[in-house]
Amino acid sequence: MSIDKLENIKIADNGTQALILRIVRDLNPISRSGIVEKTGQPHAAVSRSTSILLEKGVLTEEAHTDTNGPRRKRGLQLNGNYGYVLSVEYGPDRIEGVVTNTAYEIVEKIAISIDLASLPQTEIIEQVTKCIEQLQSKTRSCGICLGIAAVDPGIIDSDKGTSILASTIEEWKNVPIVEILEKRFKLPVKLLNTGISKIRAVDRLELNNAVENFIYIEYGTGIACGLKLNGTYISGHGNLAGELGHLRVTDAQIPCSCGGVGCLEAVASLSALAKNASQAIAGKSSILAGQKQISGVDVIRAAAEHDRLASRIVDEAFEKIGIAVAGLVNILSPKIVLFDNTIEEAGPEAVTMLLRTLEKSVLISHQSQLETKISSIKSHLGAFGGAASVLDECITA
Ligand SMILES: [Zn+2]
Repeated sequence: MSIDKLENIKIADNGTQALILRIVRDLNPISRSGIVEKTGQPHAAVSRSTSILLEKGVLTEEAHTDTNGPRRKRGLQLNGNYGYVLSVEYGPDRIEGVVTNTAYEIVEKIAISIDLASLPQTEIIEQVTKCIEQLQSKTRSCGICLGIAAVDPGIIDSDKGTSILASTIEEWKNVPIVEILEKRFKLPVKLLNTGISKIRAVDRLELNNAVENFIYIEYGTGIACGLKLNGTYISGHGNLAGELGHLRVTDAQIPCSCGGVGCLEAVASLSALAKNASQAIAGKSSILAGQKQISGVDVIRAAAEHDRLASRIVDEAFEKIGIAVAGLVNILSPKIVLFDNTIEEAGPEAVTMLLRTLEKSVLISHQSQLETKISSIKSHLGAFGGAASVLDECITA
């Protein structure tokens, strides 16, 4: 998103207003004196800036709602009716879109199952555009549209606004997606990658931005991780951080989509589970037997129903994931490891096995301070994270 366009969508006029908006975002409802206490800013400055933000309609104030003090004063909140952001996440088999209002609430959702991986580039752009149009048509009465987030499954150049390539969508190469969408919608567009968007989303929705160090393990046809360390989301040089799936975990010559062998993704992703089950099923008794095509989700669901063949395959995969994640924990020392909700579909026994393997493989010094959990959010994570990222930009000065 270009700087001049960003300026147009700024909600905060100065540093004090930005600080107040961030505090209200994370600790709402909070009173003016609560803000003074949290920020150390002079009362007069907080009061003046708060009045301006109330007048602009960015904040609302309600009696006796302050949750941060003993005396139940008037609490400030972000006003969801001030405006909204449209956000769309596209991947090889799905497009998900959300409309998120200026109180960071999802007000509309769309999910479209579509095989983007086999479509030509122009058709993919057409489908993404259509999804944004659908979102737009649902949101006529929610204030002003602040911008659009495009959440991309591959490698991006966020400065140029270009999708460089996506390993999961063959035709998706060197697409000036920001320019295309800005021209079409006459709105500022921000390009983000899936990993960063998802960790932002779980941070906002599940951890309320209160944890400085955590890792989110994304699990699906691929495996990746999002990192927040010392309060900063880590994207790495060239936005390439987080490729946990391509950590080598076995000497077995199992080919991976990256061109390597023995990667975690090649032995433990949903695609690997599907492949392993299909190869092992002949002559075995299993609820998957007789199924024409077995998907990775079929395998984990069968494991949840105590199917022996599926359980063995899932346990082997989860053990590899547990050990790999433990390595990350030992290096990065997060407070929390949060796993993708898909993991839960494998049933409580498999989840316990995964978490136990992880805890067992972590250094003793890290064990006592580590918390592990499974995310409760089932969909639209990337799209919401994109929207949250645009909103975060809007409330910085
Ligand atoms: Zn690989």
